[in-house]
Amino acid sequence: MLPESISPGHVKSEDEHRRDVCTVGRWIHGRGFVASTDGNISVRLDPHRVLTSPTAISKGMMTPDDLVITDLRGRKLSGQRNPSSELAMHLLIYSRRPDINAVCHAHPPTATGYAAAGMPLNKALVSEIVLSLGCIPVARYGTPGTPELSETLEPLVQHYDAILMANHGVVTCGQDLLTAFFRMETTEHFARVALVTELLGKQVLLSGEDVEKLLAARVRYGSATAAPAGPECPVTAEGASASGERIHVTREELEALIEEAVRRDRARR
Ligand SMILES: [Zn+2]
Repeated sequence: MLPESISPGHVKSEDEHRRDVCTVGRWIHGRGFVASTDGNISVRLDPHRVLTSPTAISKGMMTPDDLVITDLRGRKLSGQRNPSSELAMHLLIYSRRPDINAVCHAHPPTATGYAAAGMPLNKALVSEIVLSLGCIPVARYGTPGTPELSETLEPLVQHYDAILMANHGVVTCGQDLLTAFFRMETTEHFARVALVTELLGKQVLLSGEDVEKLLAARVRYGSATAAPAGPECPVTAEGASASGERIHVTREELEALIEEAVRRDRARR
């Protein structure tokens, strides 16, 4: 029986890493972050080798012997099975981020819904998210299993530890596998919270000053990646009102506004 917990840290034996990848596979499957044989998980074993989940198997049913070892160009070094066609995006992250030793890719339904809507999770709605992830951008769509997928992620991987992939899913990374998994769990949890605020029809964003304090604490705790790629990361209360905050009007109010605009336009001619 495989253990149901994994320890933090990256310095472990290959056998421990194999057990950890299988445990995280069961977690992402058990939490409904993937269906069928979706998703993939990898760990950087050393400067030259990556241990990864294989293609065409449920991530909830893997055993340590199912895993594959490749080099950093994706060439198989050992294993009965074959690596996922999405391994290239893991390798991109390892090549751009020497601080990263583990990558998780899944299709958690709420966050993937945001990805399919082309909506980043970038609003300062929850202090813990500003502290842990800053914000979560959307990479433009790239066909899975082709170099396009990595190309779309390339501009973002330096700046973010969790990225929505348009019309596809989510990728997260961390200095160890537990951190990469937690970031996947946090992303899906935040997506649900953000969705509830959308359903309630009201969002109260943190102010720029509040966000500054959180970002300073983030640097103090050593959890900050490089500076975010965009200035509006995350979007604050001031930023939202300056850039067109969403408002609600009744049909009568909307019709009155349109009539007024048409009337003014006619008066000018
Ligand atoms: Zn995928």
